[in-house]
Amino acid sequence: FPVVLGFAASGCLGTGLLVVFADDHNTSHNPPGISNTAGTGKKKVIVLGTGWGGMSFLKNLDSTLYDVRVVSPRNYFVFTPLLPSVTSGSVEARSIVEPIRRIIRSKGKHVQFHEAECIKIDAAKKVVICKDVSKVRPKGKEEFALQYDYLVVAVGATTNTFGTKGVREYCHFLKEVYDAEKIKESIQNCFESASLPHLNKEDRQKLLSFVVVGGGPTGVEFAAELHDLIYDDLLNLYPHLHNDVKITLVQSGDHILNTYDERISKYAEQKFTREGIHVKTGCRVLGVQDGAIDFKIKSSGQLVNLPYGMIVWSTGIGTRPVVSDFMNQIGQSDRRVLATDEWLRIKNCHGTFGIGDCASIEQRRIVEDVSYLFKLADKSNSGSLTIEEFVEVMEQVRQRYPQIDIYMERQHMRGVLGLLADAVKDGNRGSMQLDIENFKQAISKVDSQMKSMPATAQVAAQQGEYLAHCFNHMAAEVHDNIAPEGPMRIRGKGRHRFQPFQYRHLGQFAPLGGEKAAYELPGDWVSIGRSTQWLWYSVYASKQVSWRTRTLVVFDWTKKMFFGRDSSRID
Ligand code: FAD
Repeated sequence: FPVVLGFAASGCLGTGLLVVFADDHNTSHNPPGISNTAGTGKKKVIVLGTGWGGMSFLKNLDSTLYDVRVVSPRNYFVFTPLLPSVTSGSVEARSIVEPIRRIIRSKGKHVQFHEAECIKIDAAKKVVICKDVSKVRPKGKEEFALQYDYLVVAVGATTNTFGTKGVREYCHFLKEVYDAEKIKESIQNCFESASLPHLNKEDRQKLLSFVVVGGGPTGVEFAAELHDLIYDDLLNLYPHLHNDVKITLVQSGDHILNTYDERISKYAEQKFTREGIHVKTGCRVLGVQDGAIDFKIKSSGQLVNLPYGMIVWSTGIGTRPVVSDFMNQIGQSDRRVLATDEWLRIKNCHGTFGIGDCASIEQRRIVEDVSYLFKLADKSNSGSLTIEEFVEVMEQVRQRYPQIDIYMERQHMRGVLGLLADAVKDGNRGSMQLDIENFKQAISKVDSQMKSMPATAQVAAQQGEYLAHCFNHMAAEVHDNIAPEGPMRIRGKGRHRFQPFQYRHLGQFAPLGGEKAAYELPGDWVSIGRSTQWLWYSVYASKQVSWRTRTLVVFDWTKKMFFGRDSSRID
C-alpha cells in the first residue's frame, strides 16, 4: 500500500493539516494541491466506524481487491446487546469487546486501521478529515485527511435527548462500554453512601431511588438487570436498606416495549409491576435537575417531581455531528439519519454508502410497485385480476418486501386485511375477481403504516454483509473486464447489477430479568419464559465475534450462577 504523507497546500483543507493519500488513477476527485502517485491501482475504500455495520462489512469484504482503511475513535468492537449485563456485573466489560486489530489479523485482511474520529466528510472532494482523539497526540498534528473512492459511513448514532433540559448534565447514557462501567460504579456508590450513619431515611430513599427513562428494549432490559442485581445480590450485602429501594421506569408511550408484540409488552408490564418496579407510562419528561426529575402524566396533566440517586436516559437515537454536517452538504438537512436507496447508496452523493444506525433506506412506496405489477399481470387491461393472478402479484411483492408479512400479521394491520377481503369480489364467469382500485387503496394504507427498518445490530450487520458482497462482485467484474447486466428492477428502465438489500428479520429478544426472556419470532409467534432465557443465552453466545469473547461471556454467566454478580468497585 504505497502511501504518501504530505502537507496540503490547499486552503480548503487548512494549512498544517496532514494529508494521507494513496494511489489513484483517477485524479478528478482530488482536492486542489494534491496529486497522486502511481501504485496499486486499487480503489480506496474508507470505512468509518468499528461497530456492527463496519465490522460486518470488514469481515465479509475481500480486502485484497481494495486499499482499505478503517477510521474509528474506538479500536475495538463492542457486543452491544450485552451492555446492560455489564451495568449489573453479570458479564465483565472486557468479555464483550474484541480489539479491531485482532479481528483484522485473524481474518488475514489487508486493512489499515486508524484510531481517530472523522470530524468532516468533504463529499465534493472525496476526502474525510480525521482527528486524533488520544491524549498523547503530538501538538499541532491532531488532524489529517484521507482520500477515498468509496466511503462507507457506519458511525452509528448518539442518544437522543430531544433537547430536554438537564439530561446531558445529570443522566447516564447506555451506549458505550464506559457508560456501562460508570452506571455500575454509580449503583455501588448509591448503596455505600446510603449506608453511612449520618443519613436519615429521606436521604437514604433518595439515594436508592433509581430512575430509568425510556421503555424501549434497552431501558427495559436495564431496569430488569438493575432489579436482579439489587434483589438477588446487593440486598444480601446491604440488608438494612431493604425498604428504601425504589426503581421507576418512565415511558412516554402508553406501553413499554411498544415495538414488540402486544403479548410481550403486557407480560413485561405485569411482571415489572408484580416485582415492585414502578412503571409510569404516558409521561412526558419536562426536565432533569441535580437529584430530581420532573415529568407530566399526560392523561391527568399532573406534574410529578421524583427525587433520584441515579438516573439512566435511554430514549432512542440521535444524529452524530459529523453526520449532520454531511447531511447539510448533500441536501438532507431535514432528516435525522442519512437517506440511502435500496442499494445502500447515500442519496445525492456518488461513491458513498450508509449502513447501520446512521442511515435508513428510503423505501419506495409499495403501492407503486403493486401498480406496476398489476399492469404487467392485467393483460386485458380490464381493471380487474383473477385470484390466481392476484396471488402471483402478491408473491412478487412479498419477495421484494419481506417486511410486509411482519406488518400484515401485527394486530394493527387486521383492519387493512379486512379491507383487502372487501376488495375481493365475486366476478362474472364464476371466478373471483379483484377490484384493483380498492386493493391499491388498501396497499396505500400498508405503505403508510410500514415503518422504516429498526435501528438494530441485526439490520446493521446484514447491511454490512450485503455491501461487502456488492463490493466483492464489483471489483471482480472490473478485474475480469465484464459488466453483467444483473437482475432487473421491477419498475423503471434501468437495470441494476445487484439485487437491492433485503432485510431478513430473525426475530427479537427482550430479556425481562429473573431468568426470563421474551422472544418475538417472525410471523405471529411469541415465546416467553425461562426456556426463552436459555435460548437467549445460546443465541448470544453463538453470535460472539470470537472464541475468546464467547469463552469469557459463558464463563461470566457460569460464575454469576455460582457466586452471584460481581458487585466490587475498583476506582
Ligand atoms: P455502532 O455499533 O454504534 O458503531 C458505530 C461505530 O462508529 C463505533 O465504532 C464508533 O466508535 C464509531 N464512530 C462514532 N463516531 C465516529 C466518527 N466521527 N468517525 C469514525 N467513527 C465513528 N440491537 C440488536 O439487534 N439487539 C440487541 O439486543 C441490542 N441491544 C442493544 C443494547 C444497547 C445498550 C445498545 C446501546 C444498543 C443495542 N442494540 C441492539 C442496537 C445496536 O447496538 C445498534 O443498532 C448497532 O450497534 C448499530 O450498529 P452501527 O454499526 O450502526 O453503530
